[in-house]
Amino acid sequence: MNFIVGGGVHEHGRNCFFVEADINYIVDCGIMRGAEEPYPRLTAEQIRSAQYVFLTHMHEDHIGAFGWLVNNGFRGLAVASAETIKALPEYDRTLVLPQSFGRVNLGAVCVEYGRSGHCAGALWYQIKTDSSNVLFSGDYCENSLFNVDKISGREAELAVLDCAFGNMPYVRVEQEGKITKFAQEVLRKGSLLLPVPKNGRAADLICLLGDLKCNFFVDAKLRSFFAAQEKNNYWIPKAISAKIEALIYRPQNTELPGTYFIADAQLNTAAGAKAAREILGFGGKILLTGHTDFGSEAERLVSAGLASEIAFSAHSCMNDDKLLISRNNFGNVVYNHCKDI
Ligand SMILES: [Zn+2]
Ligand SMILES: [Zn+2]
Repeated sequence: MNFIVGGGVHEHGRNCFFVEADINYIVDCGIMRGAEEPYPRLTAEQIRSAQYVFLTHMHEDHIGAFGWLVNNGFRGLAVASAETIKALPEYDRTLVLPQSFGRVNLGAVCVEYGRSGHCAGALWYQIKTDSSNVLFSGDYCENSLFNVDKISGREAELAVLDCAFGNMPYVRVEQEGKITKFAQEVLRKGSLLLPVPKNGRAADLICLLGDLKCNFFVDAKLRSFFAAQEKNNYWIPKAISAKIEALIYRPQNTELPGTYFIADAQLNTAAGAKAAREILGFGGKILLTGHTDFGSEAERLVSAGLASEIAFSAHSCMNDDKLLISRNNFGNVVYNHCKDI
C-alpha cells in the first residue's frame, strides 16, 4: 500500500489522503481557504484512478475541493453520511451510508464507520481492501455534546488521527471556564457575538452559556439546524436538543444583554460583518472560538484588536490521541489538522 498526503498534514485545511493499493481511493478533499494554491496536491492521474472518495464531514477543509476533484477527472463513488452528501455540489454517483449500521461492503472494499463526535454527519472510517487497512478518525472528539462511537479495539496498519490542538494540552473544561468568565464580564456591560459554523460547536457553546443571565439570539441558519436535529436524535441526544431549543426560544427580557450566535465563523458574509459592526458599535464584544482563516474578516478584527480568541472546538490533542492509540492496535500513525505536528 502507498499512502499519499494530498493535504492536511503540517497544515490546517485541505485535508486529503490518497491510498494506492489493490483499489485506489481518496479520503476527504478539502480546500485551504486564503491560500494561493488552495487545492489538494494530487495529480490528475491519481484522481482518475480513485474508485471512491470517502468524506468524513461537511466542513470545507474536508469537502471544499470536491468540485475541483470532479473537474480533474474523478468519476468514482462519493461515500458519506446524508448530511455530508447534501452539502456537496451536484454529482451523480453518491452513496449515503445508513445511520446506525456501521459497516458496508463495496465489492472488495469493506468500510466500517462510526460517529466522530465533531458535528452532525461526521464519521470516522476504517477502510479495508485486500492489501490495505487504514483508519481515518476524521475530525474527532470524544467529549463534545454530539454522540460518538468511540474508536476502540481496532487493528489497522495505519491510522490518520485528528490532532488539531497538537502538543498543546487541550483541556476542554479549562476552555469552558475561560469562555464562561469572558462572557460573564462582557455581559455585565454589553452584548456578546459568537461567530460559529452552522454545524459544529454552537450546540456546546449554547449549553455552556445557558445559565448566564442574558437573552439568546440565534440566526435563522442555526435555528433550522437545531430544529432538524431535534427531529432526529442520532447526532445530538434528545435531551441536549430539547435544552438548546428551550434556551434559544426562551422569552426575552428587555433588561438583559444578549448573546448572539451567528452561523458565519469567519464573518465573511455581509450579514456577519454587519453583526460585528453593530455589536462593537453598541459597546459589545466578539469572541472567536475556532480556527481563524487567513484573509478573513475574523482575522482582520483580531489583528485590529477588535475580537478576542479562546479556542473551543470538537477536535483532539496529542494527549487524546495517545489515549486512543493505547486502546487500539495501529502499525503507524499520521497526525493531521495541525501546523505544528
Ligand atoms: Zn470539521
Ligand atoms: Zn477539519
